[in-house]
Amino acid sequence: MNGGVYSLRMDFRLSAEQLEFQRHCHAFARDVMRPTAARYDREQTVPYDVIREARAWGLHGLPYLERVGRDESGVLNAIYAEELHWGCAGIGLAISGSSLAAAGIAASGTPEQAARWVPACFGTGDDISFGAYAVTEAGAGSDVSSLRTTARRDGDDWVLDGAKVFISNGGIADVNVVVATVDPALGHRGQASFVVAKGTPGLAMGKKEDKLGIRASQTAEIVLEGVRVPMGNLLGGLDRLERRLERARSGEPSRSSGALATFEVTRPMVGACAIGIARAAYEWTVDRLDGRADADGPLLEQQRVQQVLADVATEIEAARLLVWRAAWMGRNGVPMTGGQGSMSKLKAGDVAMWATTALMDLLGPEAGLADQPLEKWFRDAKIYQLFEGTAQVQRLVIARMQVADRRRAAADELAARADDAAAAARAA
Ligand SMILES: Cc1cc2nc3c(=O)[nH]c(=O)nc-3n(C[C@H](O)[C@H](O)[C@H](O)COP(=O)(O)OP(=O)(O)OC[C@H]3O[C@@H](n4cnc5c(N)ncnc54)[C@H](O)[C@@H]3O)c2cc1C
Repeated sequence: MNGGVYSLRMDFRLSAEQLEFQRHCHAFARDVMRPTAARYDREQTVPYDVIREARAWGLHGLPYLERVGRDESGVLNAIYAEELHWGCAGIGLAISGSSLAAAGIAASGTPEQAARWVPACFGTGDDISFGAYAVTEAGAGSDVSSLRTTARRDGDDWVLDGAKVFISNGGIADVNVVVATVDPALGHRGQASFVVAKGTPGLAMGKKEDKLGIRASQTAEIVLEGVRVPMGNLLGGLDRLERRLERARSGEPSRSSGALATFEVTRPMVGACAIGIARAAYEWTVDRLDGRADADGPLLEQQRVQQVLADVATEIEAARLLVWRAAWMGRNGVPMTGGQGSMSKLKAGDVAMWATTALMDLLGPEAGLADQPLEKWFRDAKIYQLFEGTAQVQRLVIARMQVADRRRAAADELAARADDAAAAARAA
């Protein structure tokens, strides 16, 4: 699979710095997030106080981004996501959800646009800001090529019209990255991303969703009616957009769209979040069963219980290895030609949903009671099979990339055998 030359060194132990960071994130999740998790889950309000605390702990905004930016392994961000979602998935997403908009700006914007808008997604000092990355529309989620939100050029401005649904931080975001179509005939290749700042006339919040899980993270519709933004808010700039449209019109093969590139980078991190939920449920269940007994003896010594615990623990570890590998590949520019980013998110999302279900079955009826955290982890897990590409769509991506990878490998092998045969003929 490797086209380049990579180091053969392999060491699965975390470094002292990674371990220290993991302990720090875990302490924040345990001492700050957990005590408020049930309340925010019930109230579905934005956890501003916890986000402020995260800032004070160095776990939100630019200081955090700078820290993970220095991490050459790519794993630090996955550790952060797992620990915070171990604390509470909804609050974890409220703290980290702006990163999707920031990643969209970094992937599609110029360095000047990134310098201006990325900090604005988080705020500085005591000011807490939010970013939203708005792609999905009614009838256009998995199928991003059929977006109907339009961006029409008007002199040096762009005018946006349409409606986005299920947008994390929708309505509270200071920076909205809106993906709109500038040429519907070109499908996803005719799309561009625009920054729409809070308060821009014509931008409004639609329905705020009442959700099954991750309830501390606000999800809402965004309505755009004649929203006028200056040319500087077109991510990547006009020249780049025109070149891209020209390539698409001339039939030149597609490179990845801004939206797809953003999702590719963020997928392993979504997987890490799902692992945090599964691990929380697993640890809690083991502690809960410890010391309990029934007519057959202590529960943790019974084989029927051990079968489930062993499977859950093994699946969590397997998912984490996929996530950490993809995070490392993404950070080090190793091409994920086999769909490794999608694999990690698919596996982790499926593990979180399956593990929380299996653990509830193990515990029995008490697992479904609202004052038990297991039912919340079960509710929180579902979204990890849905957003940032549903499990079904991840499977399509993986299968297509695997087939292409196999065809490349077969062609390479054929060429190598032909070279060997030619060399043997020359030698004879
Ligand atoms: C809480 C929450 C937060 C979200 N946050 C954001 C956000 O911040 N920004 C944003 O842009 N979007 C966001 N979304 C939207 C989310 O990414 C989409 O809902 C998701 O991509 C699915 O798209 P859809 O809703 O159109 O479902 P559909 O695409 O209509 O899918 C419906 C079902 O059909 C299946 N399906 C679709 N196509 C295929 C196929 N070809 N083969 C097999 N099965 C298929 C899907 O897997 C799914 O099971 C969020 C959603 C939720 C629920």
